[in-house]
Amino acid sequence: MGDVMTQPPPAQPQVRPAHEGPGERPTLTFTARRRGKPPRHLADLTTAERAAAAVELGLPAFRADQVSRHYFDHLTRDPQDMTDLPAAARDQIAGTLLPELVTKVRDMQADKGATVKSLWRLFDGAMVESVLMRYADRTTLCVSSQAGCGMACPFCATGQQGLTRNLSTAEIVEQVRLAARASRDGDLAGGPTHLRNVVFMGMGEPMANYKAVIGAVRRMVEPAPAGLGLSARHVTVSTVGLVPAIDKLAKEGIPVTLAVSLHAPDDELRDELIPINSRWKVGELLDAARRYFEATGRRVSIEYALIKDMNDHAWRAQLLADELNARGRGWVHVNPIPLNPTPGSVWTASERDVEAEFVDTLRRAGIPTTVRDTRGSDIDGACGQLAAEVLDPPRAGTKEQEQE
Ligand code: SAH
Repeated sequence: MGDVMTQPPPAQPQVRPAHEGPGERPTLTFTARRRGKPPRHLADLTTAERAAAAVELGLPAFRADQVSRHYFDHLTRDPQDMTDLPAAARDQIAGTLLPELVTKVRDMQADKGATVKSLWRLFDGAMVESVLMRYADRTTLCVSSQAGCGMACPFCATGQQGLTRNLSTAEIVEQVRLAARASRDGDLAGGPTHLRNVVFMGMGEPMANYKAVIGAVRRMVEPAPAGLGLSARHVTVSTVGLVPAIDKLAKEGIPVTLAVSLHAPDDELRDELIPINSRWKVGELLDAARRYFEATGRRVSIEYALIKDMNDHAWRAQLLADELNARGRGWVHVNPIPLNPTPGSVWTASERDVEAEFVDTLRRAGIPTTVRDTRGSDIDGACGQLAAEVLDPPRAGTKEQEQE
């Protein structure tokens, strides 16, 4: 194996999105064109702001708590359900603080109903997707933080779409509330379940929409009636590597799990695969990940999509292990993800035996490594496949339910 480890084979030359000419750099987008703001929503507000909003409506402040309990605990925004409030107050509060922010366009099911991808229309017609997945021991929602994404990673369908706009805090929280309700009500195969995990691994770069994302995280982890009462450790924020935002997150005092989409241990390849690597290099990113671990005590996840003949060499697994071990032991684990197909992509997933060698190399170097499953890939619901492509006809073999 020695020569394999020391002799880097040439990388595939084609790492550019199909629509870009040869030699051009992909364009990174940090801010979206200004569009109208989503209407203000209860989930955008802190407890104090909600009380103030009730008072503004001429209602006693405690009405805000009652409505919050309905929303975050009973998971409803329907004034008819709020029977402990006087009818006039209900309609007033629901009318001003609980606008419909996300409307379901359709659900697609995979894994015999254990995975459901939902397509949502936002108030301005922007579209996002979320994916709810039931496992033997937990139920997990993958949420979107932006409509589209500005990070332009060439192997990711969302990245190829470009950024439409940032979501608001409440638009993110609504995805979670609706998934928690669907789980409770038995909409996933296997009967009622409790939504336990939320991963920011849907559309968008959460660290490029920091304020709304941290607001949503707060709403998720605050106990009812302030929030949904999830455990911070069960919330994962995944980033392509915006180093200053990672440091900021470390200081929030909310020990969410951090996932870093690394995909290459060396700048030469990462510069090609991940456009943001032009700003923050592998070393800076791993240093920030390590600081995150030190600040929070949370073990960091390294995401690594295994792309055939691109980044799957045993010597790169060894280099990755070395880079991680150089920053300490027991602070990190690696999640290799077999590459999921995306439209027009020139790449495929690594061969089985190559994947196995990559994993073994990491493990032999003492790095805990778990291959991520490709849940929902047959409904374009897996990592890197979310593109909110409403015009796509349903695929054969998947079940689609149109909403009215
Ligand atoms: N922008 C954030 C959140 C998206 S998470 C981030 O990059 O971390 C989605 C994960 O799927 C990321 O790790 C992303 O790099 C990975 N991914 C993108 N395209 C993929 C593909 N085609 N196959 C497998 N994983 C992919």
